[in-house]
Amino acid sequence: MSRDRQIEQRIVILGGGSAGWITANAMLQRWGDKGADITLIESPDIGTVGVGEGSTPRLKFFFDGLGIQESEWMPKCNATYKVGISFANWSTVPGFDRYFHPFASEIDRHTKTAFFFNTYARRQGVDVHAHPDRFFLAARLAHNRQGPKPNENFPFFVEYGYHFDAGLLGEYLKERATAQGVKHVQAKVVEVNQAEDGDIASLLTDTNEVIEGDFFVDCSGFRGTLIQGTLDVPFHSFAENLFNDAAVVLPTDAEETIGSQTISTAMKYGWAWQIPLTHRIGNGYVYSSGFCSADEAETELRGALGLLDSDTEARHLKMKVGRVDQHWHRNCLAVGLSQGFIEPLEATALNLVCNTVYDFIDTVDAHGFSGEGREAFNETVNLGFENVRDYIVAHYIMNSRDDTDYWRQNGSNSNVSERLQQILTIWKSAQNLSQEMERLKIPSSYTPMSWYCLLAGYGFYPATRPVPADHPAVTRVDMATIDDFVRRCSLNFRSQNEQLHFQ
Ligand SMILES: Cc1cc2nc3c(=O)[nH]c(=O)nc-3n(C[C@H](O)[C@H](O)[C@H](O)COP(=O)(O)OP(=O)(O)OC[C@H]3O[C@@H](n4cnc5c(N)ncnc54)[C@H](O)[C@@H]3O)c2cc1C
Repeated sequence: MSRDRQIEQRIVILGGGSAGWITANAMLQRWGDKGADITLIESPDIGTVGVGEGSTPRLKFFFDGLGIQESEWMPKCNATYKVGISFANWSTVPGFDRYFHPFASEIDRHTKTAFFFNTYARRQGVDVHAHPDRFFLAARLAHNRQGPKPNENFPFFVEYGYHFDAGLLGEYLKERATAQGVKHVQAKVVEVNQAEDGDIASLLTDTNEVIEGDFFVDCSGFRGTLIQGTLDVPFHSFAENLFNDAAVVLPTDAEETIGSQTISTAMKYGWAWQIPLTHRIGNGYVYSSGFCSADEAETELRGALGLLDSDTEARHLKMKVGRVDQHWHRNCLAVGLSQGFIEPLEATALNLVCNTVYDFIDTVDAHGFSGEGREAFNETVNLGFENVRDYIVAHYIMNSRDDTDYWRQNGSNSNVSERLQQILTIWKSAQNLSQEMERLKIPSSYTPMSWYCLLAGYGFYPATRPVPADHPAVTRVDMATIDDFVRRCSLNFRSQNEQLHFQ
Protein backbone atom coordinates (compact mmCIF):
# COMPACT_ATOMS: atom_id res chain seq x y z
CA MET A 1 0.00 0.00 0.00
CA SER A 2 1.34 3.42 -0.86
CA ARG A 3 0.51 5.94 1.80
CA ASP A 4 2.67 8.40 -0.20
CA ARG A 5 0.33 8.52 -3.16
CA GLN A 6 -0.87 12.05 -3.98
CA ILE A 7 -4.66 12.39 -3.94
CA GLU A 8 -5.15 15.42 -6.16
CA GLN A 9 -8.87 15.06 -6.42
CA ARG A 10 -11.81 17.32 -5.87
CA ILE A 11 -13.93 15.19 -3.57
CA VAL A 12 -17.56 16.22 -3.14
CA ILE A 13 -19.59 14.68 -0.29
CA LEU A 14 -23.36 14.98 -0.60
CA GLY A 15 -24.94 14.89 2.86
CA GLY A 16 -24.08 16.15 6.33
CA GLY A 17 -25.43 13.40 8.60
CA SER A 18 -23.13 11.25 10.73
CA ALA A 19 -21.98 9.39 7.60
CA GLY A 20 -21.04 12.56 5.73
CA TRP A 21 -19.07 14.09 8.58
CA ILE A 22 -17.34 10.82 9.52
CA THR A 23 -16.28 10.49 5.87
CA ALA A 24 -15.10 14.11 5.72
CA ASN A 25 -12.97 13.76 8.87
CA ALA A 26 -11.47 10.45 7.81
CA MET A 27 -10.57 11.60 4.29
CA LEU A 28 -9.24 14.90 5.54
CA GLN A 29 -6.94 13.18 7.98
CA ARG A 30 -5.55 10.71 5.45
CA TRP A 31 -5.57 12.89 2.33
CA GLY A 32 -5.74 16.50 3.51
CA ASP A 33 -2.04 17.10 3.03
CA LYS A 34 -1.86 15.07 -0.17
CA GLY A 35 -3.72 17.50 -2.34
CA ALA A 36 -7.31 16.38 -1.75
CA ASP A 37 -9.84 19.19 -1.92
CA ILE A 38 -12.95 18.20 0.07
CA THR A 39 -16.37 19.86 -0.11
CA LEU A 40 -19.47 18.75 1.80
CA ILE A 41 -22.92 19.85 0.68
CA GLU A 42 -25.96 19.50 2.91
CA SER A 43 -29.47 20.80 2.76
CA PRO A 44 -30.68 22.49 5.94
CA ASP A 45 -34.24 21.89 4.67
CA ILE A 46 -33.93 18.13 4.36
CA GLY A 47 -32.12 17.58 7.67
CA THR A 48 -30.59 14.38 8.99
CA VAL A 49 -32.27 11.18 10.16
CA GLY A 50 -31.42 12.33 13.71
CA VAL A 51 -31.28 8.88 15.32
CA GLY A 52 -28.46 6.38 15.67
CA GLU A 53 -27.25 6.93 19.18
CA GLY A 54 -25.51 3.68 20.08
CA SER A 55 -22.21 2.40 18.79
CA THR A 56 -19.93 -0.60 18.82
CA PRO A 57 -16.25 -0.33 19.85
CA ARG A 58 -15.50 0.63 16.23
CA LEU A 59 -16.42 4.24 17.01
CA LYS A 60 -13.75 4.35 19.69
CA PHE A 61 -11.15 3.25 17.13
CA PHE A 62 -12.42 6.02 14.84
CA PHE A 63 -11.92 8.69 17.49
CA ASP A 64 -8.60 7.21 18.59
CA GLY A 65 -7.45 7.19 14.95
CA LEU A 66 -8.22 10.89 14.65
CA GLY A 67 -6.44 11.57 17.94
CA ILE A 68 -9.59 12.94 19.58
CA GLN A 69 -9.75 12.56 23.35
CA GLU A 70 -12.93 11.39 25.07
CA SER A 71 -12.70 14.38 27.39
CA GLU A 72 -12.94 16.55 24.27
CA TRP A 73 -15.87 15.05 22.38
CA MET A 74 -17.96 13.13 24.92
CA PRO A 75 -19.21 16.07 27.03
CA LYS A 76 -20.07 17.97 23.85
CA CYS A 77 -22.23 15.09 22.62
CA ASN A 78 -23.80 14.18 25.99
CA ALA A 79 -22.14 10.81 25.49
CA THR A 80 -21.90 7.88 27.87
CA TYR A 81 -19.93 4.64 27.86
CA LYS A 82 -21.54 1.44 26.63
CA VAL A 83 -20.39 -2.06 27.62
CA GLY A 84 -22.98 -4.02 25.65
CA ILE A 85 -26.67 -4.67 25.03
CA SER A 86 -29.32 -6.45 27.10
CA PHE A 87 -32.06 -8.33 25.29
CA ALA A 88 -35.20 -8.55 27.41
CA ASN A 89 -38.40 -10.53 26.75
CA TRP A 90 -37.22 -12.04 23.48
CA SER A 91 -37.25 -15.56 24.83
CA THR A 92 -39.98 -17.35 26.76
CA VAL A 93 -37.69 -20.14 27.92
CA PRO A 94 -37.74 -20.15 31.74
CA GLY A 95 -34.56 -18.59 33.11
CA PHE A 96 -33.71 -17.04 29.75
CA ASP A 97 -36.10 -14.10 29.60
CA ARG A 98 -33.14 -11.76 29.41
CA TYR A 99 -29.47 -11.95 28.47
CA PHE A 100 -26.57 -9.60 27.89
CA HIS A 101 -24.40 -9.39 24.77
CA PRO A 102 -21.08 -8.13 26.16
CA PHE A 103 -18.31 -6.30 24.41
CA ALA A 104 -15.16 -8.34 24.92
CA SER A 105 -12.67 -7.90 27.75
CA GLU A 106 -9.24 -9.32 28.48
CA ILE A 107 -10.76 -10.93 31.56
CA ASP A 108 -13.04 -13.11 29.42
CA ARG A 109 -10.25 -15.54 28.69
CA HIS A 110 -10.52 -16.75 32.30
CA THR A 111 -14.24 -17.47 32.10
CA LYS A 112 -15.08 -17.97 28.44
CA THR A 113 -13.84 -21.54 28.24
CA ALA A 114 -16.04 -22.51 31.17
CA PHE A 115 -19.02 -20.91 29.45
CA PHE A 116 -18.30 -22.64 26.15
CA PHE A 117 -17.82 -25.92 27.99
CA ASN A 118 -21.11 -25.60 29.83
CA THR A 119 -23.05 -24.70 26.68
CA TYR A 120 -21.55 -27.79 25.08
CA ALA A 121 -22.69 -29.96 27.97
CA ARG A 122 -26.10 -28.34 28.09
CA ARG A 123 -26.60 -28.92 24.38
CA GLN A 124 -26.06 -32.60 25.17
CA GLY A 125 -28.79 -32.40 27.77
CA VAL A 126 -26.61 -32.08 30.87
CA ASP A 127 -28.24 -29.80 33.41
CA VAL A 128 -25.47 -27.25 34.09
CA HIS A 129 -25.59 -23.48 34.26
CA ALA A 130 -25.38 -22.28 30.66
CA HIS A 131 -26.77 -18.75 30.62
CA PRO A 132 -24.07 -16.28 29.49
CA ASP A 133 -24.50 -13.45 31.99
CA ARG A 134 -22.65 -14.86 35.01
CA PHE A 135 -19.56 -15.58 32.91
CA PHE A 136 -18.78 -12.11 31.61
CA LEU A 137 -17.33 -9.09 33.35
CA ALA A 138 -19.15 -6.64 31.04
CA ALA A 139 -22.50 -8.15 32.09
CA ARG A 140 -21.62 -7.46 35.71
CA LEU A 141 -20.50 -3.89 34.89
CA ALA A 142 -23.75 -3.26 33.03
CA HIS A 143 -25.78 -4.64 35.90
CA ASN A 144 -23.94 -2.39 38.37
CA ARG A 145 -24.07 0.67 36.07
CA GLN A 146 -20.30 0.81 36.04
CA GLY A 147 -18.13 2.28 33.30
CA PRO A 148 -15.62 0.24 31.27
CA LYS A 149 -12.41 1.98 32.31
CA PRO A 150 -10.55 0.04 34.98
CA ASN A 151 -8.79 1.67 37.90
CA GLU A 152 -5.05 2.05 37.48
CA ASN A 153 -4.24 -0.99 39.62
CA PHE A 154 -6.19 -3.28 37.28
CA PRO A 155 -4.44 -3.23 33.90
CA PHE A 156 -6.98 -5.24 31.91
CA PHE A 157 -8.73 -3.87 28.89
CA VAL A 158 -12.51 -3.88 28.48
CA GLU A 159 -13.75 -3.00 25.01
CA TYR A 160 -16.50 -0.47 24.87
CA GLY A 161 -18.63 1.68 22.62
CA TYR A 162 -20.65 4.80 23.32
CA HIS A 163 -24.11 6.25 23.52
CA PHE A 164 -24.36 9.82 22.22
CA ASP A 165 -26.71 12.47 20.90
CA ALA A 166 -26.62 11.94 17.12
CA GLY A 167 -27.32 15.61 16.32
CA LEU A 168 -24.55 16.82 18.61
CA LEU A 169 -22.10 14.26 17.25
CA GLY A 170 -22.77 15.56 13.72
CA GLU A 171 -22.23 19.15 14.94
CA TYR A 172 -18.98 18.23 16.65
CA LEU A 173 -17.60 16.43 13.61
CA LYS A 174 -18.75 19.27 11.35
CA GLU A 175 -16.93 21.91 13.40
CA ARG A 176 -13.78 19.84 13.45
CA ALA A 177 -13.77 19.13 9.73
CA THR A 178 -14.59 22.68 8.65
CA ALA A 179 -11.99 24.14 11.03
CA GLN A 180 -9.42 21.94 9.34
CA GLY A 181 -10.28 22.83 5.78
CA VAL A 182 -13.38 20.97 4.55
CA LYS A 183 -15.54 23.38 2.54
CA HIS A 184 -19.15 23.40 3.70
CA VAL A 185 -21.95 24.33 1.33
CA GLN A 186 -25.45 24.64 2.75
CA ALA A 187 -27.80 24.15 -0.15
CA LYS A 188 -30.05 21.56 -1.69
CA VAL A 189 -28.80 19.63 -4.68
CA VAL A 190 -31.50 19.78 -7.34
CA GLU A 191 -29.73 18.30 -10.32
CA VAL A 192 -26.91 15.86 -10.93
CA ASN A 193 -24.91 16.33 -14.14
CA GLN A 194 -23.20 13.38 -15.74
CA ALA A 195 -20.29 13.36 -18.16
CA GLU A 196 -20.62 11.55 -21.48
CA ASP A 197 -19.11 8.38 -20.09
CA GLY A 198 -21.74 8.29 -17.31
CA ASP A 199 -19.52 9.48 -14.46
CA ILE A 200 -20.88 12.20 -12.22
CA ALA A 201 -19.48 15.57 -13.30
CA SER A 202 -21.15 18.17 -11.08
CA LEU A 203 -24.02 18.95 -8.73
CA LEU A 204 -26.36 21.90 -9.21
CA THR A 205 -27.78 23.47 -6.05
CA ASP A 206 -30.98 25.42 -5.45
CA THR A 207 -28.78 28.49 -5.04
CA ASN A 208 -27.64 27.98 -8.64
CA GLU A 209 -24.15 26.96 -7.73
CA VAL A 210 -22.52 24.28 -9.83
CA ILE A 211 -20.15 22.16 -7.77
CA GLU A 212 -17.75 20.18 -9.90
CA GLY A 213 -15.83 17.22 -8.62
CA ASP A 214 -13.59 14.34 -9.65
CA PHE A 215 -15.02 11.96 -7.09
CA PHE A 216 -18.39 12.03 -5.28
CA VAL A 217 -19.43 10.47 -1.99
CA ASP A 218 -23.14 9.82 -1.58
CA CYS A 219 -24.09 10.36 2.07
CA SER A 220 -27.59 11.56 1.21
CA GLY A 221 -29.37 9.10 3.53
CA PHE A 222 -32.11 6.64 2.55
CA ARG A 223 -32.64 8.58 -0.72
CA GLY A 224 -29.31 7.42 -2.15
CA THR A 225 -29.54 10.40 -4.52
CA LEU A 226 -26.33 9.67 -6.42
CA ILE A 227 -25.77 5.93 -6.11
CA GLN A 228 -29.36 4.82 -6.55
CA GLY A 229 -30.96 7.88 -8.13
CA THR A 230 -28.39 8.95 -10.72
CA LEU A 231 -26.25 5.86 -11.18
CA ASP A 232 -29.10 3.37 -10.90
CA VAL A 233 -27.20 0.88 -8.78
CA PRO A 234 -29.75 -1.78 -7.78
CA PHE A 235 -30.91 -2.03 -4.17
CA HIS A 236 -31.05 -5.49 -2.66
CA SER A 237 -33.77 -5.58 0.01
CA PHE A 238 -33.45 -7.70 3.17
CA ALA A 239 -37.20 -7.52 3.81
CA GLU A 240 -37.66 -11.27 3.37
CA ASN A 241 -35.96 -11.95 6.68
CA LEU A 242 -35.90 -8.57 8.42
CA PHE A 243 -39.51 -7.44 8.69
CA ASN A 244 -39.05 -4.15 10.56
CA ASP A 245 -39.39 -1.05 8.41
CA ALA A 246 -40.48 1.73 10.75
CA ALA A 247 -39.66 3.30 14.08
CA VAL A 248 -41.19 5.71 16.57
CA VAL A 249 -38.95 7.71 18.87
CA LEU A 250 -39.72 9.30 22.26
CA PRO A 251 -37.24 10.74 24.76
CA THR A 252 -37.58 10.46 28.55
CA ASP A 253 -35.68 12.13 31.37
CA ALA A 254 -32.16 11.01 32.21
CA GLU A 255 -31.74 8.83 35.29
CA GLU A 256 -29.63 10.04 38.18
CA THR A 257 -27.46 6.95 38.06
CA ILE A 258 -26.66 6.53 34.39
CA GLY A 259 -26.59 3.02 32.97
CA SER A 260 -23.82 1.63 30.78
CA GLN A 261 -25.85 -0.64 28.51
CA THR A 262 -28.42 -0.35 25.75
CA ILE A 263 -31.59 -2.23 26.65
CA SER A 264 -33.52 -3.83 23.83
CA THR A 265 -36.94 -5.05 24.94
CA ALA A 266 -39.12 -7.16 22.68
CA MET A 267 -42.54 -5.61 22.08
CA LYS A 268 -45.63 -6.96 20.33
CA TYR A 269 -44.46 -6.13 16.81
CA GLY A 270 -40.75 -5.46 17.18
CA TRP A 271 -38.51 -4.20 19.93
CA ALA A 272 -37.80 -1.01 21.84
CA TRP A 273 -34.41 0.49 22.60
CA GLN A 274 -33.45 2.41 25.69
CA ILE A 275 -30.22 4.37 25.39
CA PRO A 276 -28.93 6.28 28.42
CA LEU A 277 -27.34 9.66 27.64
CA THR A 278 -26.25 12.27 30.16
CA HIS A 279 -29.22 14.58 29.47
CA ARG A 280 -31.99 12.16 28.49
CA ILE A 281 -32.83 8.57 27.71
CA GLY A 282 -33.33 7.90 24.02
CA ASN A 283 -36.22 5.48 23.44
CA GLY A 284 -37.51 4.09 20.21
CA TYR A 285 -39.74 1.25 19.01
CA VAL A 286 -38.61 -0.48 15.83
CA TYR A 287 -41.54 -2.34 14.32
CA SER A 288 -42.98 -3.80 11.16
CA SER A 289 -45.66 -1.70 9.49
CA GLY A 290 -46.97 -4.92 7.96
CA PHE A 291 -48.17 -5.98 11.41
CA CYS A 292 -49.13 -2.77 13.21
CA SER A 293 -49.93 0.85 12.42
CA ALA A 294 -47.82 3.85 13.45
CA ASP A 295 -50.52 4.83 15.96
CA GLU A 296 -50.58 1.38 17.55
CA ALA A 297 -46.80 1.39 17.82
CA GLU A 298 -46.75 4.82 19.40
CA THR A 299 -49.43 3.84 21.91
CA GLU A 300 -47.59 0.66 22.85
CA LEU A 301 -44.33 2.57 23.33
CA ARG A 302 -46.04 5.32 25.33
CA GLY A 303 -47.62 2.66 27.52
CA ALA A 304 -44.26 0.98 28.14
CA LEU A 305 -42.66 4.31 29.06
CA GLY A 306 -45.56 5.56 31.20
CA LEU A 307 -46.17 8.41 28.74
CA LEU A 308 -49.78 7.71 27.75
CA ASP A 309 -50.94 11.07 29.13
CA SER A 310 -47.82 13.00 28.24
CA ASP A 311 -47.70 15.58 25.45
CA THR A 312 -44.06 14.76 24.62
CA GLU A 313 -44.08 14.58 20.86
CA ALA A 314 -43.14 11.33 19.15
CA ARG A 315 -41.15 11.21 15.93
CA HIS A 316 -42.01 8.61 13.29
CA LEU A 317 -39.49 7.24 10.79
CA LYS A 318 -39.51 4.82 7.90
CA MET A 319 -36.54 2.52 7.28
CA LYS A 320 -35.33 0.93 4.07
CA VAL A 321 -33.55 -2.29 4.99
CA GLY A 322 -31.02 -3.86 2.63
CA ARG A 323 -27.99 -2.74 0.69
CA VAL A 324 -26.95 -1.54 -2.75
CA ASP A 325 -25.20 -4.06 -4.98
CA GLN A 326 -22.12 -1.87 -5.42
CA HIS A 327 -21.05 0.65 -2.84
CA TRP A 328 -18.37 2.08 -5.13
CA HIS A 329 -19.61 2.52 -8.67
CA ARG A 330 -18.00 4.73 -11.31
CA ASN A 331 -16.68 7.85 -9.56
CA CYS A 332 -19.08 7.53 -6.64
CA LEU A 333 -18.84 5.90 -3.22
CA ALA A 334 -21.97 5.43 -1.09
CA VAL A 335 -21.58 5.67 2.67
CA GLY A 336 -24.24 5.43 5.38
CA LEU A 337 -27.96 5.00 4.82
CA SER A 338 -27.49 5.61 1.06
CA GLN A 339 -25.46 2.39 0.80
CA GLY A 340 -27.87 0.38 2.93
CA PHE A 341 -29.14 -0.22 6.39
CA ILE A 342 -29.74 -3.17 8.65
CA GLU A 343 -32.16 -2.47 11.40
CA PRO A 344 -30.46 -1.06 14.50
CA LEU A 345 -30.79 -4.04 16.88
CA GLU A 346 -27.02 -4.34 17.38
CA ALA A 347 -26.25 -0.65 16.63
CA THR A 348 -24.01 -1.55 13.72
CA ALA A 349 -24.67 1.23 11.18
CA LEU A 350 -21.79 3.52 12.12
CA ASN A 351 -19.56 0.46 12.37
CA LEU A 352 -20.35 -0.27 8.72
CA VAL A 353 -19.85 3.42 7.87
CA CYS A 354 -16.34 3.42 9.38
CA ASN A 355 -15.44 0.10 7.76
CA THR A 356 -16.61 1.32 4.36
CA VAL A 357 -14.73 4.61 4.55
CA TYR A 358 -11.46 3.18 5.78
CA ASP A 359 -11.54 0.19 3.40
CA PHE A 360 -12.11 2.65 0.59
CA ILE A 361 -9.25 4.90 1.69
CA ASP A 362 -6.92 1.89 1.95
CA THR A 363 -7.96 0.67 -1.50
CA VAL A 364 -7.31 4.08 -3.04
CA ASP A 365 -4.00 4.39 -1.22
CA ALA A 366 -3.02 1.07 -2.76
CA HIS A 367 -4.39 1.51 -6.29
CA GLY A 368 -5.48 5.10 -6.81
CA PHE A 369 -8.91 5.98 -8.19
CA SER A 370 -8.45 3.89 -11.34
CA GLY A 371 -10.99 1.34 -10.22
CA GLU A 372 -8.41 -1.33 -9.49
CA GLY A 373 -9.42 -3.01 -6.25
CA ARG A 374 -13.00 -1.80 -6.62
CA GLU A 375 -14.54 -5.22 -7.12
CA ALA A 376 -12.79 -6.67 -4.09
CA PHE A 377 -13.78 -3.62 -2.07
CA ASN A 378 -17.46 -4.03 -3.03
CA GLU A 379 -17.36 -7.72 -2.16
CA THR A 380 -15.86 -6.97 1.25
CA VAL A 381 -18.50 -4.36 2.05
CA ASN A 382 -21.30 -6.65 0.89
CA LEU A 383 -19.98 -9.47 3.04
CA GLY A 384 -19.83 -7.08 6.00
CA PHE A 385 -23.51 -6.23 5.50
CA GLU A 386 -24.51 -9.85 5.12
CA ASN A 387 -22.61 -10.96 8.19
CA VAL A 388 -24.36 -8.34 10.30
CA ARG A 389 -27.70 -9.27 8.74
CA ASP A 390 -27.21 -12.94 9.64
CA TYR A 391 -26.48 -12.12 13.25
CA ILE A 392 -29.56 -9.90 13.49
CA VAL A 393 -31.74 -12.48 11.75
CA ALA A 394 -30.55 -15.04 14.31
CA HIS A 395 -32.26 -13.00 17.04
CA TYR A 396 -35.56 -13.30 15.24
CA ILE A 397 -35.20 -16.98 14.44
CA MET A 398 -34.28 -17.72 18.07
CA ASN A 399 -37.20 -15.83 19.60
CA SER A 400 -39.71 -18.15 21.21
CA ARG A 401 -42.60 -15.71 21.64
CA ASP A 402 -45.89 -16.69 20.14
CA ASP A 403 -48.13 -13.87 21.31
CA THR A 404 -48.50 -12.22 17.88
CA ASP A 405 -48.32 -13.19 14.24
CA TYR A 406 -45.26 -11.01 14.01
CA TRP A 407 -43.25 -13.24 16.36
CA ARG A 408 -44.71 -16.48 15.02
CA GLN A 409 -43.80 -15.54 11.45
CA ASN A 410 -40.34 -14.45 12.50
CA GLY A 411 -39.73 -17.69 14.38
CA SER A 412 -40.83 -19.86 11.49
CA ASN A 413 -39.14 -17.84 8.75
CA SER A 414 -37.07 -20.18 6.63
CA ASN A 415 -35.42 -17.40 4.60
CA VAL A 416 -32.05 -17.68 6.20
CA SER A 417 -28.65 -17.65 4.56
CA GLU A 418 -26.62 -20.81 4.19
CA ARG A 419 -24.05 -19.40 6.61
CA LEU A 420 -26.63 -18.87 9.34
CA GLN A 421 -28.13 -22.27 8.67
CA GLN A 422 -24.70 -23.85 9.14
CA ILE A 423 -24.15 -22.03 12.43
CA LEU A 424 -27.52 -23.16 13.77
CA THR A 425 -26.84 -26.74 12.71
CA ILE A 426 -23.45 -26.75 14.45
CA TRP A 427 -25.08 -25.44 17.60
CA LYS A 428 -27.98 -27.89 17.57
CA SER A 429 -25.72 -30.86 16.94
CA ALA A 430 -23.68 -29.88 20.02
CA GLN A 431 -20.43 -29.38 18.15
CA ASN A 432 -17.70 -26.92 19.01
CA LEU A 433 -18.95 -23.71 17.38
CA SER A 434 -15.61 -21.88 17.26
CA GLN A 435 -13.74 -24.82 15.78
CA GLU A 436 -16.43 -25.67 13.28
CA MET A 437 -16.84 -22.08 12.11
CA GLU A 438 -13.13 -21.98 11.49
CA ARG A 439 -13.01 -25.41 9.83
CA LEU A 440 -15.92 -24.66 7.51
CA LYS A 441 -14.55 -21.14 6.89
CA ILE A 442 -17.86 -19.53 7.82
CA PRO A 443 -17.14 -15.81 7.73
CA SER A 444 -18.65 -13.70 10.48
CA SER A 445 -18.17 -10.16 11.70
CA TYR A 446 -19.12 -11.52 15.10
CA THR A 447 -16.76 -13.52 17.27
CA PRO A 448 -17.68 -17.01 18.44
CA MET A 449 -18.24 -15.46 21.87
CA SER A 450 -21.01 -13.28 20.43
CA TRP A 451 -22.60 -16.28 18.76
CA TYR A 452 -22.38 -18.38 21.93
CA CYS A 453 -23.98 -15.54 23.92
CA LEU A 454 -26.82 -15.17 21.45
CA LEU A 455 -27.65 -18.85 21.09
CA ALA A 456 -27.22 -19.62 24.77
CA GLY A 457 -28.90 -16.35 25.79
CA TYR A 458 -32.15 -17.44 24.18
CA GLY A 459 -31.97 -20.76 25.99
CA PHE A 460 -31.69 -22.63 22.71
CA TYR A 461 -31.08 -26.00 24.37
CA PRO A 462 -32.73 -29.41 24.29
CA ALA A 463 -34.59 -30.65 27.38
CA THR A 464 -32.20 -31.67 30.12
CA ARG A 465 -32.03 -35.18 31.56
CA PRO A 466 -30.89 -36.37 35.00
CA VAL A 467 -27.12 -36.39 35.16
CA PRO A 468 -24.89 -38.31 37.55
CA ALA A 469 -23.38 -35.92 40.11
CA ASP A 470 -19.84 -36.94 39.14
CA HIS A 471 -20.34 -36.15 35.44
CA PRO A 472 -17.37 -33.98 34.32
CA ALA A 473 -19.74 -31.27 33.10
CA VAL A 474 -21.13 -30.93 36.60
CA THR A 475 -17.83 -31.09 38.44
CA ARG A 476 -15.58 -29.12 36.09
CA VAL A 477 -17.07 -25.63 36.31
CA ASP A 478 -17.63 -24.22 39.75
CA MET A 479 -20.07 -21.34 39.36
CA ALA A 480 -19.38 -19.99 42.83
CA THR A 481 -15.71 -19.51 41.90
CA ILE A 482 -16.68 -17.81 38.63
CA ASP A 483 -19.16 -15.53 40.40
CA ASP A 484 -16.53 -14.58 42.93
CA PHE A 485 -13.89 -13.95 40.26
CA VAL A 486 -16.17 -11.74 38.15
CA ARG A 487 -17.37 -9.87 41.23
CA ARG A 488 -13.82 -9.18 42.42
CA CYS A 489 -12.79 -7.98 38.96
CA SER A 490 -15.76 -5.62 38.88
CA LEU A 491 -14.58 -3.95 42.09
CA ASN A 492 -11.89 -2.29 39.99
CA PHE A 493 -14.33 -0.15 38.02
CA ARG A 494 -16.03 3.06 39.07
CA SER A 495 -19.61 3.92 38.26
CA GLN A 496 -20.58 5.32 34.87
CA ASN A 497 -21.40 8.65 36.59
CA GLU A 498 -17.93 8.88 38.10
CA GLN A 499 -16.22 7.91 34.86
CA LEU A 500 -18.05 10.67 33.02
CA HIS A 501 -16.51 13.39 35.16
CA PHE A 502 -13.70 14.42 32.87
CA GLN A 503 -11.07 16.72 34.35
C1 LIG B 1 -34.58 4.07 13.83
C2 LIG B 1 -33.11 4.10 13.60
C3 LIG B 1 -32.25 3.80 14.65
C4 LIG B 1 -30.87 3.80 14.44
N1 LIG B 1 -30.03 3.45 15.46
C5 LIG B 1 -28.70 3.37 15.23
C6 LIG B 1 -27.80 3.01 16.26
O1 LIG B 1 -28.15 2.79 17.40
N2 LIG B 1 -26.47 2.95 15.95
C7 LIG B 1 -26.00 3.22 14.70
O2 LIG B 1 -24.80 3.12 14.47
N3 LIG B 1 -26.84 3.60 13.73
C8 LIG B 1 -28.16 3.68 13.95
N4 LIG B 1 -28.99 4.08 12.96
C9 LIG B 1 -28.42 4.48 11.68
C10 LIG B 1 -27.85 5.87 11.77
O3 LIG B 1 -28.86 6.77 12.16
C11 LIG B 1 -27.28 6.29 10.43
O4 LIG B 1 -26.44 5.29 9.95
C12 LIG B 1 -26.44 7.52 10.58
O5 LIG B 1 -27.16 8.53 11.22
C13 LIG B 1 -25.96 8.00 9.25
O6 LIG B 1 -27.00 8.55 8.52
P1 LIG B 1 -26.63 9.26 7.16
O7 LIG B 1 -25.63 10.30 7.43
O8 LIG B 1 -26.30 8.21 6.17
O9 LIG B 1 -28.01 9.90 6.67
P2 LIG B 1 -28.83 11.16 7.21
O10 LIG B 1 -28.66 11.41 8.64
O11 LIG B 1 -30.22 10.97 6.70
O12 LIG B 1 -28.18 12.39 6.44
C14 LIG B 1 -28.46 12.66 5.09
C15 LIG B 1 -27.86 14.00 4.73
O13 LIG B 1 -28.01 14.20 3.33
C16 LIG B 1 -28.49 15.49 3.08
N5 LIG B 1 -29.18 15.50 1.80
C17 LIG B 1 -30.03 14.57 1.29
N6 LIG B 1 -30.43 14.93 0.06
C18 LIG B 1 -29.83 16.11 -0.21
C19 LIG B 1 -29.87 17.02 -1.31
N7 LIG B 1 -30.61 16.78 -2.41
N8 LIG B 1 -29.13 18.14 -1.25
C20 LIG B 1 -28.37 18.41 -0.17
N9 LIG B 1 -28.30 17.61 0.90
C21 LIG B 1 -29.03 16.47 0.88
C22 LIG B 1 -29.37 15.81 4.28
O14 LIG B 1 -29.55 17.20 4.44
C23 LIG B 1 -28.52 15.19 5.40
O15 LIG B 1 -27.53 16.13 5.78
C24 LIG B 1 -30.36 4.12 13.16
C25 LIG B 1 -31.23 4.45 12.12
C26 LIG B 1 -32.59 4.43 12.33
C27 LIG B 1 -33.50 4.77 11.19
